[in-house]
Amino acid sequence: MSALDRLVAGGSISADVPLAGLTTYRFGGSARWLAEPFDEAELLAVVAAAAADGVEMTTLGRGSNLVVSSKGYDGLVVRLAGAFSEWHRMADGTVVAGAAVPLPLLARRTAEAGVGGLEFYAGIPGSVGGAVCMNAGCHGSETSDWLVAARILDLSAASIEDTAASDLDMSYRHTSIGAGEMVLSATYRTISRPRDEGEAIIREISRWRRDNQPGGTLNAGSAFKNPQGDSAGRMIDALGLKGHRVGGVTVSERHANFFEADRDASPEDVWHLVADVRTRVAAATGVILEAEVRFLGDFDESTGA
Ligand SMILES: Cc1cc2nc3c(=O)[nH]c(=O)nc-3n(C[C@H](O)[C@H](O)[C@H](O)COP(=O)(O)OP(=O)(O)OC[C@H]3O[C@@H](n4cnc5c(N)ncnc54)[C@H](O)[C@@H]3O)c2cc1C
Repeated sequence: MSALDRLVAGGSISADVPLAGLTTYRFGGSARWLAEPFDEAELLAVVAAAAADGVEMTTLGRGSNLVVSSKGYDGLVVRLAGAFSEWHRMADGTVVAGAAVPLPLLARRTAEAGVGGLEFYAGIPGSVGGAVCMNAGCHGSETSDWLVAARILDLSAASIEDTAASDLDMSYRHTSIGAGEMVLSATYRTISRPRDEGEAIIREISRWRRDNQPGGTLNAGSAFKNPQGDSAGRMIDALGLKGHRVGGVTVSERHANFFEADRDASPEDVWHLVADVRTRVAAATGVILEAEVRFLGDFDESTGA
């Protein structure tokens, strides 16, 4: 019996778990294994088992920037839980948040506590780990503006280190954090802000999102990163592509950089729509857009998204 199968038999991880319900697109296949470790000791045991079996690993946050292939993922998906869902305000004014903490919750709870800075997270439906890894941001702030350090597990060495934000090469939707690394927690600097001011900022962010983004639909946020000095949504809109469809996925009428899925759409429809829109934008403008959504599992590389 393999090391991972022993963990399945012992009930600490699960086999063949559908991932669709764990992503905002709500489609995609299953993970060969899914682990939801409670703390660092449990996480390290799972990572050691995967390494012993030579099995590939990946981290899943709240699946809000992710398209999982219909064929699923033939490896171990780690979704941090338990102690990784806690956050604490420290005596020095910093906030330490586990990677599994939902960003809107962190925004609301810190605002309630008179702690300012992280209000912008109210509109981003991801996790702290996902936000650090993507340098998520909006409304004029990004994660790198507030991040002091991140606790990171190197999956191949099974070693954990606290890394200063300045060593993470953070820029617009970019960090040096690679597939072989897992963010375990983040330390943020904060400012003092009266509760009513923080809550007013959050209300304004929610209002802006309601007015400008396709709420209540199946999507994973922006399909493309903005190219230098322009907006991907503006460029797509300028080509008249709002409403353009591949299979069950459509360029949103509300925000051209959001690709909305019908209930019966497939992950491969997103892949093909991303490739199609990129080709059209490149042909018209010469700019090659870079995907912001991430794809997990097998997709047809020859059609390249
Ligand atoms: C309606 C909507 C609005 C959005 N608006 C914004 C926005 O304004 N700004 C913005 O930046 N983004 C936005 N997003 C995209 C998304 O919410 C962010 O990119 C978010 O940071 C992703 O976090 P997640 O936990 O959902 O990551 P996932 O989608 O689960 O994963 C995304 C990537 O991060 C990796 N990852 C996740 N957790 C970890 C971890 N702990 N350690 C290492 N790697 C990890 C995954 O392996 C994957 O490669 C939006 C999405 C939606 C659906």
